[in-house]
Amino acid sequence: MKAVQISKPGGNFEVVERPVPQPARGQVRIKVEACGICHSDVLVKEGLWPGIQYPRVPGHEIAGRIDAVGPDVTLWKPGQRVGVGWHGGHCFQCEPCRRGDFINCAFEKITAIHIDGGYAEYMLAPAEGVALMPDDLPADEAAPLLCAGITVYNALRNSGARGGGLVAVQGIGGLGHLGIQFARQMGFRTVAIGRGADKQALAKKLGAHEYVDTSAGPPAAALQKMGGAHIILATAPDSKSMSALVDGLGPNGTLMIVGAGFESLTVTPLQLIGGRKSIRGWAAGTAKDSQDTLEFSAFSGVRPMIERYPLAKAAEAYDQMTSGRARFRVVLTMS
Ligand SMILES: [Zn+2]
Ligand SMILES: [Zn+2]
Repeated sequence: MKAVQISKPGGNFEVVERPVPQPARGQVRIKVEACGICHSDVLVKEGLWPGIQYPRVPGHEIAGRIDAVGPDVTLWKPGQRVGVGWHGGHCFQCEPCRRGDFINCAFEKITAIHIDGGYAEYMLAPAEGVALMPDDLPADEAAPLLCAGITVYNALRNSGARGGGLVAVQGIGGLGHLGIQFARQMGFRTVAIGRGADKQALAKKLGAHEYVDTSAGPPAAALQKMGGAHIILATAPDSKSMSALVDGLGPNGTLMIVGAGFESLTVTPLQLIGGRKSIRGWAAGTAKDSQDTLEFSAFSGVRPMIERYPLAKAAEAYDQMTSGRARFRVVLTMS
């Protein structure tokens, strides 16, 4: 099979021929049809995650079809359309797993970190890491829903926001353009927060009821004028912009962070105490959460905006994604 691998931290993408892998006990083999490129693929490319064994095949937004199953796999059968995301598998035995909190498994198998990912024609996945994919969702559009999509969908549905509540989505990029659609389809009063008047038309098209342009004035004041946000979903990894939103929260509001930045937030305790506000992070979800994301997207019409590249052009596709030019997710296609 054709695969694209990284053979050392900081190495280039190499297109290689590999034997088609055989599924071991508890694994399925997936014939990959599409694999999204995520900003987190940089962790594999540059070796920023401790303990990665190279060569490693990147890619944790995988959509395809089961093509073989290993011994003891009873849940899946060849021919089923499936997806795999960041959370590739769990141990079922550690403390969080025994509480059913699989995403916090102490021995979590992260796709493309601990096992090879989807920049390849075939991949192996633990049976518990596989999500069933609705028939009416094309593989290339499903792929980005398996990391970018599930992250914002799961954060929003677990945020405590209720139908009609004011939910603001900061950032109109890979995560944000999906967050706006989900917020609208979940029945929230949806406010998009972006920089520049030119993004307003797109934000409205994606379903935002209101648009706040951060270059036109402090966004927190604009949110307060609307009554204060119950939830602000922060998707753009810019800690300064996130910090500036805290005062836009209404009573009991939460700044829900999914955009992974490295800089510190600047917030005073007093900003949180008055109005009993909170700041919270959220990480993707399990395979069942992925399946929920795919099903919700299929019947509600939420779709990522994507640019397609053939597998052999993975390096070019990755550059397009990391340059910030992509509108908004880049997907590798296998056929
Ligand atoms: Zn990702
Ligand atoms: Zn565990």
